Amino acid sequence: MNELERLLLADPRDPGCDAAMPILDQYVELELDGADPAARFLATAVHLRSCPACRADHDGLLEAARRFSDAQLGG
Ligand SMILES: [Zn+2]
Repeated sequence: MNELERLLLADPRDPGCDAAMPILDQYVELELDGADPAARFLATAVHLRSCPACRADHDGLLEAARRFSDAQLGG
């Protein structure tokens, strides 16, 4: 990747991993509620799009939460 590509990919709204991580729980909860988490946590939504590590964490949380709520409903 050259310098120009990196500049184009970088989003000035992206707050970085340290800011996104603590919000992932709430972000996933909104998703499970059928709400639009990007409307409330735009910066986190932007970050998830550009950071594979945080996206993997998010996917894991979402998957675990879905399984948990399925179990609550008696599966
Ligand atoms: Zn990240």
